[in-house]
Amino acid sequence: MKTPSQLNKEERDTVISYESSESHYLLLTPGPLTTSSQVRQAMMLDWCTWDEDYKALTEGIRNDLISLAKASPSLYTSVLMQGSGTFAVESVIGSVMPPEGKLLIGANGAYGERMVEIAATLRIDHIAMVESHVTPLSPARLDRYLMEHPDITHVAFVHGETTSGMLNPLEELCRVAKQHHRTLIVDAMSTFGGIPINVEALDIDFVVSSSNKCLQGVPGFGYVIAKRSAIEQTNSWARSLSLNLYDQWNTMEKTQGKWRYTSPTHTVHALSTAMKELQEEGGIEARYQRYKNNHRVLVEGMKALGFMPVLPPELQGPIITSFHYPIGEAGTAFDFALFYEGMKKEGFVIYPGKLTDADTFRVGTIGHVFPDDMHRFIHAVKQVMKQQQGSECVLSD
Ligand SMILES: *Cc1c(COP(=O)(O)O)cnc(C)c1O
Repeated sequence: MKTPSQLNKEERDTVISYESSESHYLLLTPGPLTTSSQVRQAMMLDWCTWDEDYKALTEGIRNDLISLAKASPSLYTSVLMQGSGTFAVESVIGSVMPPEGKLLIGANGAYGERMVEIAATLRIDHIAMVESHVTPLSPARLDRYLMEHPDITHVAFVHGETTSGMLNPLEELCRVAKQHHRTLIVDAMSTFGGIPINVEALDIDFVVSSSNKCLQGVPGFGYVIAKRSAIEQTNSWARSLSLNLYDQWNTMEKTQGKWRYTSPTHTVHALSTAMKELQEEGGIEARYQRYKNNHRVLVEGMKALGFMPVLPPELQGPIITSFHYPIGEAGTAFDFALFYEGMKKEGFVIYPGKLTDADTFRVGTIGHVFPDDMHRFIHAVKQVMKQQQGSECVLSD
């Protein structure tokens, strides 16, 4: 058999598309996600990092992020940061808090709680506005907190809490923070690119997300869309060298696209391809409609099979959905591990639950997946449940 380097281009494309599709499972998870074969093919070459072509690629992504945020380049800028999404969140919290600043963090899930952990680890003065995992963050409560604590300088919260699948009330929370003239940090990790967010109209100072969520790239780096006037003030505030957001931004800005330290070249090429696909799909609005359709097919099908969503529809976003374990016939407990394995054999990878006080699992509806895939998913759930109920009968005889 030939090694990949001995193949001509046509042969190589055939091997790649053969290996990459059909037989493999779909990821119905909150990231990494199922990507298109074009996105994966973008990573099949070794790419250099220092020249004008590569810098132009980085600049293209940075500029496109600003237009996806519906922001004008004179007021907003963007910066890419190596690492998973959490690294990008940590780079923002660690770099944009002034030495005497105080951060209020809204936390109604694992990702809000992670921001609290980051602030505690970096010894940043902070308070947490905590809600249960099934309660949205309250704009009225935020208003009260900001009134009672005039020393709070910055507010941070998660838009789509991937823990539950809930959408926090983004617009109202932003409005309250801005009425009180606080600097605003939004973790839009699981929503940016999949749900329209008008960053400039909401006057958000820092929006954070990563390459492997709704932009449908692969893991490797995060990005921050920042108000220029806000990031410009942050020189010398960073509490970390490698996660210094200002320095990373300043370097990219001054050199038109150079990264500090090794950049994740394959991932950057993959995201550039993925962002072209987002344009071809019709932009964020079209993708949002697809995700909503995926979610609708999922929920209708699952309900018909006896799986109830945890959240009421008015709190639920189209990104990921938590389901209660089904209530079986007397004495038959739902075995998630067995169900997971069965579904994987059928070609679908799902996600365990993360809620503290209920037995749940999650199904993602983002990535290169379509309503037809969700119909096939429902069919597979039916098959797997039938097999497993069948085998339990045998076992209990
Ligand atoms: C995925 C995600 C993150 C980042 O997680 P990583 O595992 O570090 O990539 C942060 N916040 C939210 C809401 C997420 O969905």
